[in-house]
Amino acid sequence: MQVPEGVKGAPDWLPPEARVFDAVEAAFLATARLAGYERVRVPVFEQTEVFARGVGASTDIVQKEMYTFTDKGGRSLTLRPEGTAGVLRAALEAGVPRAGALPVKWSYAGEFFRQERPQAGRQRQFSQVGIEAFGSDDPALDAEVVLLGWEALLRAGLERDVLTVRMNTLGDRTDRGPYLERLNAYLDGIAGLPAEVEERRRLNPLRAFDSKAPGMAAIMADAPVLADHVSDDAKHHHETVVTLLEAEGVPLTHDPHLVRGLDYYTRTAFEYQAAGLGAQNAVGGGGRYDGLAEDLGWPERFPGIGWALGVDRTVLALRSAGAEPPLPGRVAAFVVATDTALRGAALALATALRRAGVATDFACDGRSVKAQFKAADRSGARYALVLGPAEIDRGVVTVKDLGSGEQRAVARDAVVDALGL
Ligand code: AMP
Repeated sequence: MQVPEGVKGAPDWLPPEARVFDAVEAAFLATARLAGYERVRVPVFEQTEVFARGVGASTDIVQKEMYTFTDKGGRSLTLRPEGTAGVLRAALEAGVPRAGALPVKWSYAGEFFRQERPQAGRQRQFSQVGIEAFGSDDPALDAEVVLLGWEALLRAGLERDVLTVRMNTLGDRTDRGPYLERLNAYLDGIAGLPAEVEERRRLNPLRAFDSKAPGMAAIMADAPVLADHVSDDAKHHHETVVTLLEAEGVPLTHDPHLVRGLDYYTRTAFEYQAAGLGAQNAVGGGGRYDGLAEDLGWPERFPGIGWALGVDRTVLALRSAGAEPPLPGRVAAFVVATDTALRGAALALATALRRAGVATDFACDGRSVKAQFKAADRSGARYALVLGPAEIDRGVVTVKDLGSGEQRAVARDAVVDALGL
């Protein structure tokens, strides 16, 4: 019998890379926390209609990438392909729009699932950290959100010069009718559009902009762009966002072709890209979604804006930029016992250190002292704490600095203070 393999496209993050992964996720979450975005936890699956209505019928996600299944009660459920629809569903269900104190600022982190063709930087299970701010139209909030994504990527260790922030305005949905007619007229004039594009445009002509079909980039280069046809209000909103971000030193690249692969965006849309990632170069993206609450069935307008940053892809970007953060060892201290009879004392010492907040390991399996020191080195610990019969008799521990090789006897009760960790 063979051990079954992991699922294709679902990565295993093992130590030590998993430590880099955790550090990136922690940096993203810390950025959100420092701006008052409170962590929410929502299920990894939802009723399918949350995404079918929320993400949009014309999107690749809903058309072909969702992990949808029928449970034993006959309900159609879907593993979350993105975060916003589910988080907003939870906010609406809890009556957040009517509870006052808006905007509400939330963050989330976790696993997401899309049945895409796996390749470098594109997986079927991946991890995101996201923020959402609900209930305000203020362009200062758009600026805050874009700025926080930028800050989060810097905090994770990416340098300014490997990052690009692409920005666009998609206007309001009410602006779109005449523009979509123009776009359709333009596309009608192109002979032999790929079948895939014909299909996409029937559902949402904007999707022609994110088609990767051969020749499409050149075709779309001359297409009319939405940013030229938005209302004065939306234009003014966009200009304010851009001015605020430029004042904060965020380098923006205006990209009128950026529509992003989700149907819900209105006004501000943005994407963060990192150099060195090849085709899958987006490390995060987001936008405003002023109509999404109504798409989900809420009776009133309830605006929002947010982003999601990809943890896996940010780790790849750090690696490719040679900017992986220096990682602390697995533990800070390692207990070496010269005799298996002392394993109880070793475990007690490790426990005392752990209780005091010092990450500590100890050796098992009755290894020789030499092998235990090797294990201590491998663990990344700064100190080995040696226990032998002599130490037990004297009520001390021999503390060895594994960097300098220096060692000294320290009273058992004073070990934590002596390490100075
Ligand atoms: P999106 O929701 O498509 O805007 O994705 C936001 C971010 O999540 C992207 O910029 C990526 O960093 C990450 N992401 C999305 N899809 C995948 C995937 N299939 N594999 C790895 N990361 C992904």
